[in-house]
Amino acid sequence: MNDRTALVTGANKGIGKHIARLLAAEGFTVFVGARDAERGRRAVTEIGDGARQLDLDVTDPASVAAAAARVDRLDVLVNNAGIAVTLDPPEASGVAEFRDTFETNVFGVVAVTNAFLPALRRSARPRIVNVSSGTASLAWSTGPNPQFLSGAGGAAAYRSSKAALNALTVLYALTLDGEGFKVNALAPGARATDLTPRATELGGDPAEGAEGAVRLALLPDDGPTGGFFSWDGTPVP
Ligand code: NDP
Repeated sequence: MNDRTALVTGANKGIGKHIARLLAAEGFTVFVGARDAERGRRAVTEIGDGARQLDLDVTDPASVAAAAARVDRLDVLVNNAGIAVTLDPPEASGVAEFRDTFETNVFGVVAVTNAFLPALRRSARPRIVNVSSGTASLAWSTGPNPQFLSGAGGAAAYRSSKAALNALTVLYALTLDGEGFKVNALAPGARATDLTPRATELGGDPAEGAEGAVRLALLPDDGPTGGFFSWDGTPVP
């Protein structure tokens, strides 16, 4: 096994698979987190050298515990698994849709992060990257030049879940400051994946979004923590 280890959740497709591939190319042993064993196995075969299969459903406590028990030391955790169940504004979204979205995008991240903290604490240079979304930026949504006017209050469950993820990013960064951790959130940009039909229409390359996660995974000791960055390294308000 290589010296440095990484876990990417939801790494069987989309941006997560690219993050896993790029980290493997950097020399990491990469645990490819996937809730479906067959989809995970296929991704591991595709990525090749350095990739290891890890069954992991971030919403299932037993699955999270079993996955954590398999990893002794972890240098990089990328909380990438995410869902967008509705693009509706808040008044048209059911509470169940908010619950389902938060279950994966927020509570899943807390469960996985807490379960893997002991392994991360065995690293000399622990890094946590939370894959968020630029649509979660309250400043971009409401500032003098709002960037998401076309969507108005759309995708409310998704955007509020990622705003909560950003809050957690700051809180984990503050709590783990002093232990060598860097905890940051990433806005990967609109990418052509299965997550949203609009992203497919916009056509951004998911590999480009993944590069941003790798940059945050490889931050030096004097790098930022508790920040929110676009895929190209630009700070997001
Ligand atoms: P995809 O739908 O292609 O991939 C999502 C991944 O998450 C899949 O591997 C999926 O697994 C996995 N996943 C979902 N739920 C769970 C779960 N409970 N446990 C484990 N894995 C799970 O989407 P993207 O690659 O686009 O999304 C990756 C991240 O990037 C998400 O957090 C998303 O919010 C974020 N993002 C994406 C943008 C875009 O334009 N695409 C823009 C901004 C942010 P399965 O195959 O089993 O469903």
